[in-house]
Amino acid sequence: MKNVITITAGHSNTDPGACNGLSREADIAADMRNMVAHYLKTAGVEVRTDGEGKRNLSLSQAVTLIKNSAVAVEFHCNSVSDKRATGVEALASSNHKTISQKLCKAVADEMAIPLRGDKGWKPENAGFHHRLAYVSNGGIILELFFISNDDELAIWYAKKWLIARAVAQVLIGVAND
Ligand SMILES: [Zn+2]
Repeated sequence: MKNVITITAGHSNTDPGACNGLSREADIAADMRNMVAHYLKTAGVEVRTDGEGKRNLSLSQAVTLIKNSAVAVEFHCNSVSDKRATGVEALASSNHKTISQKLCKAVADEMAIPLRGDKGWKPENAGFHHRLAYVSNGGIILELFFISNDDELAIWYAKKWLIARAVAQVLIGVAND
């Protein structure tokens, strides 16, 4: 089971997360999960998810998927009142620092946005989100970009398949390691 990749969508069908206009964090997270899952399956990687399509299970259910996977990543967007805030970051324990930095670099290069924290990595207590159960159970929370930043949100819609492919390539590397 060591090469199973788990990818889950932040928030849930009952919790939209952060919003900007009509865009909702939970929808972006599910979209990202679905696209990354597509690329992983195409590459022959065994993948676990917290739903397909618009289905997005709760955090407590997502956490149960982490065990026995090579890596588990949950997708989120950052959001703050200052609309200029920018960049990608991953919240994870220090044993996932290197993979967190690779995931962040993939997003940063594709979107042309900055790396936050230590080349993208931040310790689990540094985030705006307090869904640390995912991190304390061995997962990585990937805050793709700021949904509150109109420019970053526009880049997401323009390039989301490319962003998903870049992230999937990092995960395929882990699965085949
Ligand atoms: Zn979130």
